[in-house]
Amino acid sequence: MFHDMHEECGVFGVYGHPEASNLTYLGLYALQHRGQEGAGICSSDGRHLHLDKSMGLVADIFSEKRLKKLPGHIAIGHNRYSTAGSSVLKNVQPIMANFALGPLAIAHNGNLVNAIELREELEKEGAIFQSTSDSEVIVHLIAHAKGGDFYERVIQAIKQISGAFSLLILREKELIAVRDAYGVRPLSLGQVDGAYVIASETCAFDLIGALYIRDIEPGEVVIINENGLQAMRPLVAPRHASCIFEFIYFSRPDSCIFGSQNVNDMRKKFGAQLAKESAVEADLVIPVPDSGVPAALGFSEESKIPFDFGLIRNHYIGRTFIEPKQAIRHFGVKIKLNPVKKLLEGKRIIVVDDSIVRGTTSKKIVKMLREGGGAKEVHVRISSPPTIGPCFYGIDTPTRHELIAATHDVEEIRKHITADTLSYLSLDGLKNIVPESHNYCTACFDNNYPISFPGEQLEQMELFLK
Ligand code: AMP
Repeated sequence: MFHDMHEECGVFGVYGHPEASNLTYLGLYALQHRGQEGAGICSSDGRHLHLDKSMGLVADIFSEKRLKKLPGHIAIGHNRYSTAGSSVLKNVQPIMANFALGPLAIAHNGNLVNAIELREELEKEGAIFQSTSDSEVIVHLIAHAKGGDFYERVIQAIKQISGAFSLLILREKELIAVRDAYGVRPLSLGQVDGAYVIASETCAFDLIGALYIRDIEPGEVVIINENGLQAMRPLVAPRHASCIFEFIYFSRPDSCIFGSQNVNDMRKKFGAQLAKESAVEADLVIPVPDSGVPAALGFSEESKIPFDFGLIRNHYIGRTFIEPKQAIRHFGVKIKLNPVKKLLEGKRIIVVDDSIVRGTTSKKIVKMLREGGGAKEVHVRISSPPTIGPCFYGIDTPTRHELIAATHDVEEIRKHITADTLSYLSLDGLKNIVPESHNYCTACFDNNYPISFPGEQLEQMELFLK
């Protein structure tokens, strides 16, 4: 199933810096929240590419010694997250390949919707795939492109792929960045010490002291080499469809994405709007840390109900969602969060989280606040609309039947999570806050999928919708 191939990832690239792989390491470290399954860096010293990748977290994988084996002034890196089934080293990126025009490596964030079809066609033509990652399709498409120079081949390749792609390509003497025409995933350009850097999110620039210049635009190809930076716009789409869920959950609050809009600021506004829409009498507003913090602050400011940390998170554990097996996930919420009894006891609590996916987290949190915390009432407020549609463009949401809001109304969900009241942010409320919201994909909230699914996937999609 194509669900297997979902990826939420972080990419980072640098051109023209003597410490390219060290900077990439730091960039990936700042982007760790975008994927914790595996990471890799590929560098170029102008003559050869050097690749190192492993399963695990960036800081655990790379040592000074390992980074020394990645010399050169150009590098790209990748953090990978994937669901069970493809959780293996061969799917960790960058993917490196040798072909007629020399070696290349790619790092891809996003999800292609026509990867299966393209893969079948390429295999018929004799391509041998090393991995099950849809990103490898891009490498083969470049290699199989008919004639032309390297750039023409890249353009031929990216014109065939459909879906979400924020892509970095490394060659011996250059770095190329590509963003799909819908602009689904973020990708920003910055500068440090006269070198160019490219990252999924600007929080990576902050860590290395780089200055944000601009976004890589939807449909744009940016080539950086000894001639400087060259940009072209070979891809066009009927509309833009940046992922609104990046604002809600996925990006880090300190990042500025999609035209330099601060994620924290956006989340606070979602929380304030939620307070306007679904006020309730209570003594305390608490967030589900960390993802609910900015929205809870916004809720508290708007409602004038005091804010505090009623749930404490143990930061030394990965996100529960990352664990591939359901059995571990259940255990995860408890090991991650603990209620502050002194603060909660006998109180009416509003607990703010960014989203409900399957409903398991909220249920456990409500139980925890009542039983461990002694809360008198628990009012759950969600700073996004009900998640009713799976994502096919790179956010890892489960299949439709596992999304609790796809099959249950709000009252049923309230009962399931045993909350006194439950409210979500309205879709209109959300759209009114995000500037130019018509340029965003909101498929997970309204089933309006901006990038259509070809062939077999379309059939599967229709099955999902039934
Ligand atoms: P669930 O227990 O499935 O309802 O998960 C809801 C929790 O998962 C919320 O606290 C969210 O912050 C978090 N969450 C939402 N979307 C994702 C995602 N794509 N990856 C990881 N965590 C997520």
